[in-house]
Amino acid sequence: GYSTDVTNEKEELIEENEVVTGKEEVHEFKTETKRLLSIVANSLSLFGKRSIAHHTELNHNICEIDIYSSSELVSNAADALEKLRHHQMMEQGLDSGKPLEIHISVDQSKKQFIIQDYGIGMTEEEINDNLGTIARSGSKAFLEKLDKDGSGSKENIIGQFGVGFYSTFMVGEKIKVYTRSAKPGSKGYCWTTDGQGSYSLAEADNVTVGTKIVIELRDDCKQFSSKIEVDSIIKKYSNFVGFPIYLNGGKV
Ligand code: ADP
Ligand code: MG
Repeated sequence: GYSTDVTNEKEELIEENEVVTGKEEVHEFKTETKRLLSIVANSLSLFGKRSIAHHTELNHNICEIDIYSSSELVSNAADALEKLRHHQMMEQGLDSGKPLEIHISVDQSKKQFIIQDYGIGMTEEEINDNLGTIARSGSKAFLEKLDKDGSGSKENIIGQFGVGFYSTFMVGEKIKVYTRSAKPGSKGYCWTTDGQGSYSLAEADNVTVGTKIVIELRDDCKQFSSKIEVDSIIKKYSNFVGFPIYLNGGKV
């Protein structure tokens, strides 16, 4: 059930200190992205409250949506850190001064799940390419397979191919991404959407190099802001991640 986490430790929650300074530009999602988002956002009601999905990367038959979403987010954070590490070995000047770590923060009173990495981050162009379109081959394959097999098997198809970043829309009603590329001189950005067809993008100040994703959880997914729950998910499913993961300030 949904219970309040009781802890005596001092918790370090990730704050939102970023300030949007630029003019917000509204961009339409591409048609295929819109379609994917509406399928993903409705998957909960289609598959029942705690939706299940098979996911190849998890090596586990039954995977609840919060496990699935957090695995995708943690794996993206780890990819971003790996890319930064690789670039740091190849060229000078990419030292962000931050450790190669993943920080997660959950707040039940705010129904929030935040994940931050000090990885490679994204430039404005990369944001539009990666978060506005279906860059990922898995998502494309998902839609193609859906067209071929019909809508009866959405659950299986999501599990087979994965929908990556878009899985955040299974648990979140509003998603905010703050990101700043590790390339020297890069500006920070705030990308935000409710998944309903368009997203806004604006320049922002106080954005740390890397990426921070803030998820305002749906009412029926608020268990995903429980520290106890998220702690056990990460211990169980993100054990293999090669970078340290912190939850509310404590190492998992
Ligand atoms: P995949 O990880 O298979 O490429 P995703 O849908 O999970 O697909 O992510 C799409 C793209 O968005 C990634 O390839 C990457 O370019 C970008 N992205 C997602 N999360 C992050 C992150 N934390 N840091 C930097 N880039 C990211
Ligand atoms: Mg991914």
